[in-house]
Amino acid sequence: MSDNSVFSERGSKDVVETGLEFMPKFDADGLIPAIATDAVTGEVLMFAFMNREALAETINTRRAVYWSRSRSEIWRKGETSGNFQNVTEIRTDCDQDVIWIKVEMEGHDAACHVGYRSCFHRAIPDDGKAVPGLVLKRTEDAPSFDPDDVYGKKS
Ligand SMILES: [Zn+2]
Repeated sequence: MSDNSVFSERGSKDVVETGLEFMPKFDADGLIPAIATDAVTGEVLMFAFMNREALAETINTRRAVYWSRSRSEIWRKGETSGNFQNVTEIRTDCDQDVIWIKVEMEGHDAACHVGYRSCFHRAIPDDGKAVPGLVLKRTEDAPSFDPDDVYGKKS
């Protein structure tokens, strides 16, 4: 898809920061960071990247589409797992260089490919110190699904 014209060119700082024309900034690789939060709870579910095509499709279909940097391909979230993300709101930040989508999860009600509800399923303990061997604590008791069942066993 030749989509350089899908979105407006970047304007002046003022126009970008406070105006109402959408002028998303893509980095040198053609990507923009995207944060997905739960539309109901506000919980951060995942962080990923979108290219122009993924962002345009997300806007037009109201389903989250990302760009997979590891596979170098468009990644229609939920296509394999059934864990689609139905988008209820799309925002951009002051610089228009980050996308925030609010989503309602389908399927296992879990966003992370390792089975947890949120990709951010581990935390630094409150009394944790920045030292080698720092042990994380889980923020979810157990995964919501078994990735081996959903994606097939990895050899
Ligand atoms: Zn994840």
